[in-house]
Amino acid sequence: MKVVIVEDEKDLAELLAFNLQKEGWQTIVALDGRSGLDTILAELPDLVILDLMLPELTGIEVCKQLRRQEKTATIPVIMVTAKGEEIDRVVGFEVGADDYLVKPFSTRELLLRIKAILRRTASPVETEKTIRHGALVIDEERHLVTVHDAEVTLTLTEFKLLAILAMRPGRMQSRERLLQDVWGYSSDADTRTVDTHITRLRSKLGEAGEMIRTVRGYGYKLEIA
Ligand code: CA
Repeated sequence: MKVVIVEDEKDLAELLAFNLQKEGWQTIVALDGRSGLDTILAELPDLVILDLMLPELTGIEVCKQLRRQEKTATIPVIMVTAKGEEIDRVVGFEVGADDYLVKPFSTRELLLRIKAILRRTASPVETEKTIRHGALVIDEERHLVTVHDAEVTLTLTEFKLLAILAMRPGRMQSRERLLQDVWGYSSDADTRTVDTHITRLRSKLGEAGEMIRTVRGYGYKLEIA
């Protein structure tokens, strides 16, 4: 396995590389955002560890550019931040990192995150827990969603929402019911949460998002052809 580490603190970069090499992984270190991006594009690694604050190009900008290009769009990215700041953005739709770590973090924590990500992105195995509707494939066991074989990165909540809609195709589901099933509580006041998540989910799913239909004044359903 090949890992690119983009980190401008040389000592930390070398420490990370050393620990990953102990796991038997190949590592390549880049010390700024620009050379990090070039290295990733040239090497197409299995995983990227990306510092947020970097000279030349920030980690956020590097990650966005990776997500925009087809050959790097699904490479798992773990973002490393100095503080808890911007985490929502980092793992959100706009930037699209798979996970993040706040400095200082232990080697053990990093390895756990890497292994969890690699489990999620390992080559797909069909199980009875796989739901297919057209181009949309939802693998419940591995928490993986693909549209036309391209992985769609969803938050846990978005995943659960989609899985519940897809498990009951063609059936209208009220906002209250979705709130209960996905978030585990029901309150009339909070049904806007459902709408917000549906909007993000549709946007992330692209073409397949059109299958999620609004039932006016009631809720949603997943319409299948
Ligand atoms: Ca830095």
